[in-house]
Amino acid sequence: MWRMSLKRNLNCPLEEGKRLAPLSAMGVGGEAEFFMEPADTRDVCELFRIRREAGFPLYILGGGTNVVFADGLLRGVVLSSRRLSDFRWNEDGNGDVLAEVEAGCSLPRLAAEAAEKGFAGMEFAQGIPGTVGGAVAGNAGAAGRSVGDLLEEVTAVEEDGGVRKWKRGEYGCSYRRCSLFSPGRFFAGCKMRLRRASRAEVERDGEVFRRVRSSQPRGVKSAGCVFKNPEGDSAGRLLDRSGCKGLRIGGAVVSDVHANFILNSGGATGSDILELMERCRDIVFRKMGISLEPEIKLLGFGMDLFSV
Ligand SMILES: Cc1cc2nc3c(=O)[nH]c(=O)nc-3n(C[C@H](O)[C@H](O)[C@H](O)COP(=O)(O)OP(=O)(O)OC[C@H]3O[C@@H](n4cnc5c(N)ncnc54)[C@H](O)[C@@H]3O)c2cc1C
Repeated sequence: MWRMSLKRNLNCPLEEGKRLAPLSAMGVGGEAEFFMEPADTRDVCELFRIRREAGFPLYILGGGTNVVFADGLLRGVVLSSRRLSDFRWNEDGNGDVLAEVEAGCSLPRLAAEAAEKGFAGMEFAQGIPGTVGGAVAGNAGAAGRSVGDLLEEVTAVEEDGGVRKWKRGEYGCSYRRCSLFSPGRFFAGCKMRLRRASRAEVERDGEVFRRVRSSQPRGVKSAGCVFKNPEGDSAGRLLDRSGCKGLRIGGAVVSDVHANFILNSGGATGSDILELMERCRDIVFRKMGISLEPEIKLLGFGMDLFSV
């Protein structure tokens, strides 16, 4: 019934059996029963209204740089933000600049344009792949700075299909967490406050963050850091000290360069990644007594330990 409603009421194409592996940086996963990539938020609202009645599974996808999809068929709908990608720079009247951005806009592209214009505040984001919506969802950041520092307003499509604007102060952001994040809420866009500076200043500040990136593996299939850093420690250090570097299950392997990166070395499946995560977590818990929490979002794995 809901399948008919979707086909009848959405303006954007509804693709069936869409392969998900090419849509994620890790390059694993099965197929989506339905996949949609609307260019108009009204389609998102319509989807949510239909879902409210029917209750089918929904998976929201940005750039796919922080997700691992399960293998096999993912029932329900995968909603991609990538065609909602406009942005513009506005004056706020007090000398600052407000970036008004749609969810699917590339975060590094936005940060690069800000740097070119001499707008300061986004230097940390130049090397963080993915979309602005994904960055809001996980409060993406580096070296103590994060997207939440810049947010003035978040526009969301709520579970009932209505649109709500959340002002700064109505939500909270902390390390890799935004209190608004929920599998049933779509971030349609946001406003970010930047400061006018010079290109030279922005370039100089960006250097700190480029150095952080030099310790990470490059040119490989991964979804970034697998586990969040526990309070006062680094997940990479704990994994390294526990001997996890080089551990392998199927095509999934723990990077030799940075122990908090799991790589798809070729032919990995979603189950390989999940199993390797569980194995690493068990080893760290046994050796260090610390239970690591995943940073990567596991989509379609059901109600197991790590799923969101
Ligand atoms: C090489 C590499 C380096 C990385 N370095 C960093 C780093 O330094 N710092 C850092 O924080 N992260 C890093 N990451 C992880 C990743 O880039 C960030 O988490 C990024 O912000 C995810 O954005 P995305 O659009 O790819 O989200 P996705 O991976 O598509 O989705 C991530 C989560 O956000 C949800 N989501 C996505 N878009 C929306 C939306 N519009 N509305 C609601 N929910 C949404 C998804 O459902 C999912 O739960 C790295 C990843 C890689 C591969």
